[in-house]
Amino acid sequence: MRGMRKTPCSIHKNVLHMLKLLSLELIISMTYVVTENCIRCKYQDCVSVCPVDCFYEGETMLVIDPDQCIDCGVCEIECPAEAIIADTVPGAEKWIELNRNYAHIWPNITQKGAVPADADDWLKTPNKYETYFNKESNG
Ligand code: SF4
Ligand code: SF4
Repeated sequence: MRGMRKTPCSIHKNVLHMLKLLSLELIISMTYVVTENCIRCKYQDCVSVCPVDCFYEGETMLVIDPDQCIDCGVCEIECPAEAIIADTVPGAEKWIELNRNYAHIWPNITQKGAVPADADDWLKTPNKYETYFNKESNG
């Protein structure tokens, strides 16, 4: 069809549109979540560094509210149990759902409390979710 050549202006608009979609995608999809490595360890080093206080505490583990997390990543490197992962890690889907569910049920934790006396004993235990996860909140 005649007259359908792209002008510099329409190309500019298309590029802007693509950038908007890309940034929207990043905003929607990025968060960090806590996995089963936290169960019965609960060192809480993550709580002290989170700038938006988005950790919630269950009896045996903590979770992150994925809707509050600003994706800064500082908690990930602080966790001695390597329990915190980005939502882009393969297999993270299950943990995103669990984190979101319990963040709406358990109380917010903003300061590091007492660490379980036997935390180190649980550090290398695999597959803790099946046997040791407790859906009760802490307190
Ligand atoms: S630092 Fe790691 S193990 Fe400790 S409470 Fe946070 S996520 Fe759990
Ligand atoms: S990534 Fe940042 S904002 Fe998200 S939970 Fe960790 S410390 Fe908090």
